[in-house]
Amino acid sequence: MGTSRSVSPTPPPATCPAWCAGDHDGEARHLAELLDVTVTADGTAAHTPRLYLDLRQGPDDARPLIHMEVDEQPVARLLPGEAVELARALLELARLAGEL
Ligand SMILES: [Zn+2]
Repeated sequence: MGTSRSVSPTPPPATCPAWCAGDHDGEARHLAELLDVTVTADGTAAHTPRLYLDLRQGPDDARPLIHMEVDEQPVARLLPGEAVELARALLELARLAGEL
């Protein structure tokens, strides 16, 4: 038949999971909407850090991972269950501090 086609090393996925924002910008990974939190306790008048959270899944990842960064610096990658554990721990600490 003689059909030939060029294959990109990282072709964009054919379909996206429901959580993917769909903005691949030429990359093969799925990426959710970015969430962010201002970290005022570590801030100064000149700069207040921001904690960024997102959900990503690359072509080699078996499942999506939660990525945490402070400004542009990666802090951790969490499995979804680990993120739930972290969320529970943060809620407990906030409760102890009288926020909840
Ligand atoms: Zn996607």
